[in-house]
Amino acid sequence: MNISPLISARRVVALTGAGISKESGIPTFRDSDGLWKKYRPEELASPEAFRKNPQMVWEWYAWRIQLVRNAHPSRGHIVLAEMERHYPEFHVITQNVDGLHQRAGSRNVVELHGRIDRARCTGCGRVYEPAPIEDIPPVCSECNALLRPDVVWFGEPLPPDAWEMAVELASQADAMLVIGTSALVYPAAHLPVLAKSRGAFLVEINPSYTPISSLADITLRTGAGEGLDLIWKEVKEHVEG
Ligand code: NAD
Ligand code: ZN
Repeated sequence: MNISPLISARRVVALTGAGISKESGIPTFRDSDGLWKKYRPEELASPEAFRKNPQMVWEWYAWRIQLVRNAHPSRGHIVLAEMERHYPEFHVITQNVDGLHQRAGSRNVVELHGRIDRARCTGCGRVYEPAPIEDIPPVCSECNALLRPDVVWFGEPLPPDAWEMAVELASQADAMLVIGTSALVYPAAHLPVLAKSRGAFLVEINPSYTPISSLADITLRTGAGEGLDLIWKEVKEHVEG
């Protein structure tokens, strides 16, 4: 495995998806289990679903918020936080909404899909963090309108600032690590293509084949923690050696 472009890189970006948090015990949409298995995510994580049945959507979110509150950062999250302290410029761009990168110690995190443990008033826009999930569906204490989870749902645009930042980081990166994302959900899936077209060295870590696999300079068919450990060890050996 020749990772020398990653060793000499100055600007590094990690793009993460649900796979890295799976190792913290948070199911991806595709392998969501138990109770909610009979629903497709599009039937729950969408503005239409919320309009039709806010109670049910909030029950699903309350369940996921509890999972996130009880979870701990995985080895992969921790390695990325260590890498941030090593490189002159290191950013995580994440599609995850669980806040686990920050809890692992990462500071430069661009959240493309919002934050699950945060609610937003559909009336006045007031933000509540953590999300109040005692009474479901929760209402705003200022204007009494319904609160909604402060995440990006299917069919909704990404927060413009976060997207702009992600595009800038991807186009300037010397290297990009693509970890635990199926690279099917646009526009996020465009970022590795953009980085590669601007000359970035592309490393993918994913146990399954994805549309990025054929584009990547190196693909590790491992879980996030194992793959990141491997790469990080090599980088450190070169620096220390
Ligand atoms: P996704 O599209 O990012 O796909 C998950 C990917 O993880 C797959 O490619 C799979 O092969 C890979 N994977 C599985 N196990 C892995 C492991 N141990 N290590 C590394 N990779 C592994 O995720 P999705 O579930 O389809 O969700 C799409 C969107 O839904 C997310 O981008 C997010 O907005 C939201 N979501 C967020 C969370 C979270 O915040 N933890 C969880 C579920 C869904
Ligand atoms: Zn309000």
